[in-house]
Amino acid sequence: MPDALRPPIDLRSDTVTKPTPEMRRAMAAAEVGDDVLGDDPTVIRLQERVAEIMGKEAACFVPSGTMANQCAIRAHTEPGDEVIAHADSHIIHYETGAPAALSGVMIRPLSGPLGLFKAADVESAVRPVSSHFAKSALVVVENTHNRGGGAVWDLGEIAAVEGVARRHNLKMHLDGARIWNASAKTGIAPATYARHFDTVSCCFSKGLGAPAGSAVCGTRGHIARVHRFRKMFGGAMRQTGVLAAACLYALDHHLDRLNEDHAHAQRLAEGLGAIPGLSIAMPVATNMVFFDLAETFPAAQAFSEQLEARGVRMLSTAPRRIRAVCHLDVSRSQIDEAIRIVGEAARMAR
Ligand SMILES: *Cc1c(COP(=O)(O)O)cnc(C)c1O
Repeated sequence: MPDALRPPIDLRSDTVTKPTPEMRRAMAAAEVGDDVLGDDPTVIRLQERVAEIMGKEAACFVPSGTMANQCAIRAHTEPGDEVIAHADSHIIHYETGAPAALSGVMIRPLSGPLGLFKAADVESAVRPVSSHFAKSALVVVENTHNRGGGAVWDLGEIAAVEGVARRHNLKMHLDGARIWNASAKTGIAPATYARHFDTVSCCFSKGLGAPAGSAVCGTRGHIARVHRFRKMFGGAMRQTGVLAAACLYALDHHLDRLNEDHAHAQRLAEGLGAIPGLSIAMPVATNMVFFDLAETFPAAQAFSEQLEARGVRMLSTAPRRIRAVCHLDVSRSQIDEAIRIVGEAARMAR
């Protein structure tokens, strides 16, 4: 089939997956109630299920990963507090300034390769208790790390970060939008990561393929606050069981296959890395590939438009950097097709 007639190979994000026919059937058949009144049985079932997976007392279903993180940040802080997080973190780059707008907090950005930082970095960022200073209140860890190329945190380093946080009375939040990928990669259970955190968020709409939905898990007390801020931020919805059913279906059927996406990402990186003028920017740890364009190429935005015209969709994330994400709706043969098409575009471009 000519490239122009083929459906595009969409590697922009793992959020582009469409609900499968079986998932749609599960949604259509979902038993529902009014989740604002607290009696949607499918939402209740999902919340119990995800709390158990994370080894926490309770969970709150929310529409998006952004709302999950922002409800957690609001739950753990007061205006004027400071949140310690990596400079490349999602809460800084992709959540519209919400920590400032919704919680009135400052963020103390840490550096370190691949979105990872060390316990010692936290130690030196914590402010002494003083009426002069913002109050250090919360540490946010992102696992896997999006702008860090999908990097996976070392469990020992998480434990060390927690040790510092506890000593200074800071809360710990895990942005686990892709915790599923971290667990698939390492074999370490989500609950084993989550044990080091007061709250953990996770997304059902990325690698797991649900159309929407995230959750925050934690103690009953923390989740009661998250639940209050979900309402305040406009995220309480009614017959949400139709969405929760998709998330439950995703947990049952799409969790075990994530290492396929990781293998596809490795294959894609090998193929792209062999194309003259392209260089793999960060080690491929999970389902993401970031690559940089040589100076002789057009800018990343223009090159991604050339790819789009040939039927491959990827996102530019910096002037010379492009990201490709592997997911449920991309097969191994499409990965090979994508490599071929990028190679052709590169030949024309350089
Ligand atoms: C996608 C993502 C989120 C939340 O995104 P939404 O688009 O709001 O669902 C949060 N953290 C990380 C690391 C993400 O990649």
